[in-house]
Amino acid sequence: MEPVRQLENEHLGYSDTPKLASGYTVHDGTRPQMPVVDAQPGQAPGDAVVLFDGSSLEGWTNVKDGEACGWNLLGDGAMEVIPGVGDIQSEKEFGSMQLHLEFMSPVEVKGQGQGRGNSGVFLMGQYEIQVLDNYDNPTYPDGTVGGIYGQTPPLVNPIRKPGEWNVYDIIWNAPVFEGDTLKSPASVTVLLNGVLQQNATVLEGPTEHKALASYKPHPAKGPLKLQDHGDLVRFRNIWVREL
Ligand code: MG
Repeated sequence: MEPVRQLENEHLGYSDTPKLASGYTVHDGTRPQMPVVDAQPGQAPGDAVVLFDGSSLEGWTNVKDGEACGWNLLGDGAMEVIPGVGDIQSEKEFGSMQLHLEFMSPVEVKGQGQGRGNSGVFLMGQYEIQVLDNYDNPTYPDGTVGGIYGQTPPLVNPIRKPGEWNVYDIIWNAPVFEGDTLKSPASVTVLLNGVLQQNATVLEGPTEHKALASYKPHPAKGPLKLQDHGDLVRFRNIWVREL
């Protein structure tokens, strides 16, 4: 009878390989296995926190008064800014995360530059990734869709036409403070419609308008805020995976 061929050791990998900085060996089978995630393209992954699925505006509050969201819940899975109602934010708070969100620029095209289809995704409530209808609508580059507003323009502009859905996938590394000192700045990777716009770009601080940004200590988590800039921008399919 053939002897059963033994694995080199009783786990799944090797122990006679060089040691990594982590303390594990190269190909170390004793490393913890990673969680399995139920993932279906086009749907929120099984381990995601769903912030908006089109069924209700619960979990969102109005930033002005802390009361109900107040935006328009459309019947087709989307919500829409009601101009003047104000910014809204999630009740749940997050630090570093993977964010998925879809938005549509207003079908009726009006205004120019920053005045056309303006909204924004504010990570931790204070770091804006711009939402703007930049289809055939140039503006200052650091205010273009996918831009870190007032700091870093996106690499490219893959915006779709007004009335068509756009997909944002954003990977956010929150800043880390030690007491009053910034230990590491925030960085962000942004894909719009699957196209890389920000590649682990480091932020100068929270978003400012016509001013330089700088960090001030803040809590390790904050809400996701969406901007009412007076335009009928729609959102749908918003989910987060905490990192
Ligand atoms: Mg904006």
